[in-house]
Amino acid sequence: MKLGFHYSLAKGFSGVVAQALKVGADCGQVFSRNPRSWTAKPLDEADALAFQAAWRSAGLGSLAVHAPYLVNLASNQEPLRQNSIQTLAEEMIRAGRLGAQYVIVHPGRVKKGEDAPSGITRVIQAAVRVLEIARPGLVRLLLETTSGQAGDLGQRFEELAEMVRGIEAAKPAAVGICLDTAHVFAAGYDLATPKGLDRTLMDFDRLIGLDRLAFLHLNDSRFGLGEKKDRHEALGRGRIGSKALARFIRRPELNHLCAVMETPRQSDEDDRLNMARARSWASRPEP
Ligand SMILES: [Zn+2]
Ligand SMILES: [Zn+2]
Repeated sequence: MKLGFHYSLAKGFSGVVAQALKVGADCGQVFSRNPRSWTAKPLDEADALAFQAAWRSAGLGSLAVHAPYLVNLASNQEPLRQNSIQTLAEEMIRAGRLGAQYVIVHPGRVKKGEDAPSGITRVIQAAVRVLEIARPGLVRLLLETTSGQAGDLGQRFEELAEMVRGIEAAKPAAVGICLDTAHVFAAGYDLATPKGLDRTLMDFDRLIGLDRLAFLHLNDSRFGLGEKKDRHEALGRGRIGSKALARFIRRPELNHLCAVMETPRQSDEDDRLNMARARSWASRPEP
C-alpha cells in the first residue's frame, strides 16, 4: 500500500511537495482552495505547472484533490445545487491542471425527513452534469464512503453502487470510490475483526466491484462501530485499533492503492508517528 497524507496549502503549492517529502510519503491529497468557501482564486498556471513538475521529480505517485465541503450534489435547493455542480466541475478542471488523477467528493446530504432514494437520483444527475461541464479526460471523480452522520448519503455500499451505476450509464469509467476506514467503520462495517474485514471487502466487491476502488483514506475512528459519527483519530489510537488497521494495510487486493491519512495533527511529529506505525505494520508478516 502506498502511503501519504492530506497536505496543507498554508505554504502554497510549493509547500506541499516539501511537506510530503518531510514525512516520507509516497502519494497524497490536497484541497485546491479553501474548502469552506464557494469562491476560489483562479489557479496560477505557472504555479500549477511548477507544482506538477516538483511532485513528479520528487518521485511522488497518486494525487487526489478533495472537493470543498460545501458541495452537496443531493440538494434540491437552488442556488445550492447549481453552486455545487459548478464548484465541483471547477475542481475537476483545477485537479487536471495540478496533475491530479482524482477528485474526491462526499456524495451529498439530505435533510431530516427527506428520503434517500430521491437524494441518490439527484446525486447521479448532478454528477453527470459535472462530468459534462468538466470533460475531465484523465481526472476521475471519486465518491467517498461516509459515516452516515447528519443525513450523509453513501454510508451503505448499496447506495454507492446505485450512484456508480447511474453515473456510469451516462459516463462510462468516469467515476470510482474512495473508501475511508473511519467512515465505513462508523457506518457499521466492522473493520475491527478479521471476519468483519473479509465481509466488508466481499460486500464491496459484490455490490460495487473492487476494480472501482481507486483511493483509500486510512484513519482510525474516535467513535465506535455503527455510531454514525465522523471523527478521525491517530492510527491505533481509536476504536478500529492497531491490529485491525495492520490487517487492512496488508490486504493484497489493496496493495496497489494510495492510502491517505487524514489524522489529527498538531505538528509534523504527528504525521511522522502515524507514518511510522503504518510502515511498520505494512512490513511485518501476517501474524
Ligand atoms: Zn472526505
Ligand atoms: Zn476521508
